[in-house]
Amino acid sequence: MTNTVITLRNLTVAYDRHPAVHHINGSIERGSLTAIAGPNGAGKSTLLKTMMGELRPAEGSVEHTLSRADFGYLPQAADINRRFPITVLDTVLMGAWRNSGAFGRIAKADIERAHTALQTVGLEGFEKRHIGALSAGQFQRVLFARLLLQDAKVILLDEPFTAIDARTTRDLIDIIIGWHSDGRTVIAVLHDFDQVRSYFPQTLLIARELVSWGKTEEALSPANLLKARAMAERWDEDAEVCRPDSPLTRPAA
Ligand code: ADP
Ligand code: MG
Repeated sequence: MTNTVITLRNLTVAYDRHPAVHHINGSIERGSLTAIAGPNGAGKSTLLKTMMGELRPAEGSVEHTLSRADFGYLPQAADINRRFPITVLDTVLMGAWRNSGAFGRIAKADIERAHTALQTVGLEGFEKRHIGALSAGQFQRVLFARLLLQDAKVILLDEPFTAIDARTTRDLIDIIIGWHSDGRTVIAVLHDFDQVRSYFPQTLLIARELVSWGKTEEALSPANLLKARAMAERWDEDAEVCRPDSPLTRPAA
């Protein structure tokens, strides 16, 4: 049995031919707990979506040793529509689709598991609430309950604690630690370096190109953080020059 779940080979991902991440090499070990860190616009979400197969490489490849159904994914909160009229229980039950299919029968056992998952995330009694009526922290608990139900082997989380209260963050970190001790592979985009240093043994630091990837303490060394910031400043300057309304790029009349 191979010990890696995801291998990136010379991976480049582009939007409209503009590369967002460049030439990334490395692999995620089975059972590892990895943080992805880097400045805004560094390509963290792009990398995560590519790791789970939602985006295709422009160059290079992503190799998986597991199937798509083994992956659980939590998008950035901004990418989730909460106006959809659905209850907490039904949202959690979506995590069981992998077993039942979108229109298959929901087994009684799944409903029981959904109740248990809601208990685990501290939302017992919220089953019939509309998701639009929850606080940001409560909604994030619901999404973690859905991941619990999904029972995925690899779990990818995109900024799970942004705009989430401290109490919820602590509770959800406990769930992540539980997944890790179950032997699941967890990869999370995070911006709080204290959280990363406290709970994540591995870190991938990216600023469109890979800055460092390995043991957290080394990956987040002062020199590497400085390098990431310098790389981000360089692309900010580029953005200035390439601004669509800039006289340099505006087409001649
Ligand atoms: P991060 O998550 O690190 O903040 P992203 O992966 O979201 O960074 O974005 C990396 C770069 O790709 C940014 O310059 C962003 O503007 C660009 N980008 C992200 N998504 C899209 C998209 N759907 N279409 C075009 N450009 C995008
Ligand atoms: Mg992002």
